[in-house]
Order: sequence, then structure tokens, then C-alpha cells
Amino acid sequence: MHPWLFPQSIATVDGTLADGDSVTIHREEDGEFIAQGLYNSRSQIRARLYSWQEADELDDSFFIARVDRAIDLRLKTLGFDKSDSFRVIYSEADQLSGLTVDKFGPYLSVQVSSLALSKRLPMILDHLQKTFLPKGIKIRGDRQTAKAEGFELPEEWRGTTPDAPFEIQHGGLKYLVDLRAGQKTGFYLDQRLNRLRVGDFARGAKVLDLFSYAGGFGLTCLKAGATDAIAVDSSEPAIALARENAKLNGLPLKTVEADVFEFLAGADVKPYSFDIVVADPPRYANSRKDLDSALRKYFKLNEEAIKKVKPGGILVTCSCSGAVDLLSFTQMLGSVGRRAGRAIQILETRGAAPDHPVSVNCPETEYLKCLIVRVN
Ligand code: SAH
Repeated sequence: MHPWLFPQSIATVDGTLADGDSVTIHREEDGEFIAQGLYNSRSQIRARLYSWQEADELDDSFFIARVDRAIDLRLKTLGFDKSDSFRVIYSEADQLSGLTVDKFGPYLSVQVSSLALSKRLPMILDHLQKTFLPKGIKIRGDRQTAKAEGFELPEEWRGTTPDAPFEIQHGGLKYLVDLRAGQKTGFYLDQRLNRLRVGDFARGAKVLDLFSYAGGFGLTCLKAGATDAIAVDSSEPAIALARENAKLNGLPLKTVEADVFEFLAGADVKPYSFDIVVADPPRYANSRKDLDSALRKYFKLNEEAIKKVKPGGILVTCSCSGAVDLLSFTQMLGSVGRRAGRAIQILETRGAAPDHPVSVNCPETEYLKCLIVRVN
């Protein structure tokens, strides 16, 4: 069952409830137990559900056990105990709706998007501290949802705040991460296995990394033997970071600070000139109602991007919009191929790395799609 309970599916609320209290959900007709959750009258998500067992009690030890289950997946099942950076907890995907924790080297970054969990945060932080012994923990409320949920959690730190950007390691490369107050530069952990996979196609290739952020795809391809890689991003800090990462790894990444659409329309980029084009745009749809407009944007982007792919070359096209399902995204790509008169073969359909698991009950957790296709 989906972990969000909306007002329209609630018939009655018995007793008086304060925001953040635990609630038991029963079927209206016969009172049969359904689930247990945490209540918030101020949120459209009136209750976030955490347990489908009547015997559970949503107390501190319950949430600690959930946190441990999430940590076990990463450290034991996935074997990330030697990796320095990964997602430790991913909200609904770990049945911890409203809590996301990332590990970046010796620091943890905690993002809270539910009022009820913001109230239970201190004991969760104590537990994370004991488990990972981080130098510091950055804590912040997800701005958009914090407003919708009716709480404020300004950025704060536990332990040491890094006084400079620090290095993390992935795929034999070093990346700079800056978690300091007000700094926005992090690292997209979800794409890290997709970057390595794209690297497998990169020997001798000319690569165009669109929406490059810190240059992850381009740098991974260069390390894997690409002859040339251009990273394009419209954000000045992102391009600055990509340049620093290139320097740090001694790789000849070319960087362009530009809007991708303007860049693709420019005279400098010749048609059919790249072996690999990566398109990893920001989220185009926030909810299902944006689906059509998002699909039009993806169409426009991919239509322009494939013009630069050599016949027989690779397009890596991504969508991080949870509201855009894989079928619609694939059909969009079909239309792009028809319009361009080019046959497109899907080689691999990929998602986020498995430390961003997908909950079978919460399709929104399957947000990242990464299609590696050959364009003929
Ligand atoms: N590919 C990256 C992640 C990309 S995140 C990685 O592997 O880490 C999306 C990026 O798109 C952000 O860095 C943002 O600055 C950039 N962006 C958003 N709109 C853009 C536009 N119109 N043109 C260029 N870059 C854009």
C-alpha cells in the first residue's frame, strides 16, 4: 500500500490528534486494521504510513530499527562498506517517508521533509552518529516540503563543519564536494553507476556531456579512454566545479557555461559530430499534471541532442522526473526517432544506483530513468 494518506481517503478522525502524533488507520466499513502512521493536519499528506503490522508501536526503537535496516542494505547487501559516498536512507524507498541521508566521505547530509520525523530527529541523529562516527552532520529541511508540512528546519550542523570543499572518491576519480553553509555543490550519487556504464562505451570516443553539473559523465568517459569530452551547464558554480574536478584528476575536460538549447543551436557544434551524447536535464515534471508539458520538453531536448550523434553513436538520455513513467519516456524517444528519420535501439534501460531502491508501493521512488540507446 502507498505510504501517503490523502484527506479525500479519510472518512473520520477519532479522538484529538496533535501534528506529529502516531495514528492507526482502520477500514471504514468494518474497522479492520490497515496501517500505522504519523499524522499531520497541515499537510496534504495527512498521514505518512510506516507500518502495516498491528503489533508494531511507532516509538523510537521502531524508527531506529528501520534506520538499521536501511544501513544494512548499503553496508551488507550492497557491500558499500568500503565506499566513502552513498545514499544511506532514501525516504519512502526505505519505508522512512520524509528522511533522506547521504554519506559524503567523512560527513553525513540529512534532509527532512516531514514534520513528524523532524520531531523525532534527535534520536535518529544520535544513532547515525554512533554508527558512522562522522566528522559532522549537515541537517536541513527540504524547503518546499517543509513549507507544505508546516515546519521550519534551517540548516544546522552537528559536529565539525568542513572549512573547505573536500574530496570524495568514485570510479577511480576524485570529486570535490562542498557542504558548507549556503554552498550548493554536492554530488549526484544516483547516477554514479550509470556514469561507469557509459564509460564502457567511451574508448576513443568524442563525448558531449549536456547538463554536466560537476562533469561526472564527461570525466568518467575521459578516464575510460575517450579522446575528447565537452561538459555543458548553465550554472557558473557547476562549471567551476567541473573545471576543478578535471584539474584534480588531470583530465582534459572542456567546459562550456551555456544554456544547453542555445549551445545545441549554435554554429560551433556540428551535426553528427559526437560518438556519445549524454542528456541529463533537471526535473521537468513535479507531478503527474506536468506530464504532457514535461514530455514536450524532453522531446525538444532529445530532438536537438540526437542531431549531434554520429550514425551508430550512443545517446544517453535521462529523466529524473518521478511523474514521467518509463513507457511515456520511451514513447517520446520513439517519436524523436521517427521525426528525425533515425532508427533508435535501446541497449540498456537503467535507473538510479541500488542505494536509491524503488519501493514497489511508491512509484514516485522510481524517479530516475537512464536509457542508453544507439542512434543509427
Ligand atoms: N549530469 C550531472 C547531473 C545534472 S543535474 C551529473 O552526472 O552529476 C542538472 C544540471 O542541469 C544542473 O547542474 C543545472 O545547473 C543544469 N541545467 C539546468 N537547466 C539548464 C539549461 N537550460 N542549460 C544548461 N544547464 C542546465
